[in-house]
Amino acid sequence: MTLADRIRDEGARLAAACTACGACVRACPMTAYAPAALADTSLTAFGMRDLLTGGVGNAPGLAWVAVCARSGVCSDACPEHLDAAFLLRLAQMRAKGALDEAPRIPVKEDTGFSARVKAFARLTLTEGEQAEWL
Ligand code: SF4
Repeated sequence: MTLADRIRDEGARLAAACTACGACVRACPMTAYAPAALADTSLTAFGMRDLLTGGVGNAPGLAWVAVCARSGVCSDACPEHLDAAFLLRLAQMRAKGALDEAPRIPVKEDTGFSARVKAFARLTLTEGEQAEWL
């Protein structure tokens, strides 16, 4: 099973268990940075849940998913005892286009990532390997 399959399967499983009650949204400290998410928390949760199954979500759901900082506070609030933080994580991955879908939220470009990988690789590779791979 590939990572993409896991993201799809887990997303579908968790979406089926989520009632879109919005308790996770109401508990989230990051809604201060996405106030639209609080207008109708069930609608926001519905949008997040839709992303889990490859849907387009909705504006408040996307706004909320985009500001998730993985505090985990949402998981404690879920009356269904779901790991809401994991739902959010999967929804964020889908919204960022992890499965070759068009990104629906801004994807931060890490321009220093390649340089850091190379710097670390220089510590572990032989000169010959560096000449071949870097
Ligand atoms: S993850 Fe839990 S708290 Fe959040 S909407 Fe779904 S059922 Fe409700």
